[in-house]
Parts: sequence; structure tokens; C-alpha cells
Amino acid sequence: MRLVFVCQSCGCHYLVPPALRYPDGGRASAVWCSVCQLAAAHRGASEPTELAAVAVLLAVRALKAALAARATREQPRRADRRPTRPTVTSRGRTRPAGARARLA
Ligand SMILES: [Zn+2]
Repeated sequence: MRLVFVCQSCGCHYLVPPALRYPDGGRASAVWCSVCQLAAAHRGASEPTELAAVAVLLAVRALKAALAARATREQPRRADRRPTRPTVTSRGRTRPAGARARLA
């Protein structure tokens, strides 16, 4: 699973490669998408370090929440599962609890 970030400049959601490294050797930003990162580089603006740290934390938290939500969604019922037989105690106990022991 990869982290999804929200660009702090244009607001789009973007995926970053693992370890924030592009195949060409460039470093991905946790703050800006590739387009806005390029624009910021042309402006000469550097990535705010605190914002990048917070963005990574938020992305990790969102990933964990998504995984937890998926785990609880897949678990409860399966379509191919047959209904279970009702438990013995729910079938109606008419005799007193000690009746079988006395007949034997
Ligand atoms: Zn952007």
C-alpha cells in the first residue's frame, strides 16, 4: 500500500512512489504534487519541513484508517456461508434441568 497525499497548493490527491523517490532519482514531496513541486522549484520556494512532516503523519493515519475500515467491512458476513443451526439451549427446554438424570 502506498501513501496518498493532498497537495497543499492545488488540493489534488496524489500518490508518491515508495520512499518518496521518483525513478529518475528526483525526490517526491509530501506537500506538493509533482506539478506544484516543479512550479515551486521554478519560484525558488523550498518545501516547508514542518508541513512535510505533518503531511506524512496524516497520510500514514489515513492509510491505517482505510486498512482498518476495509478489514471490518470484509469480515462480518460471507455470501457462501450457510446459516448456523440454532444452539441446543434455544430450542425450548420444557423439562426441568434434572429430568434426564432421574430417568437414567
Ligand atoms: Zn498540486
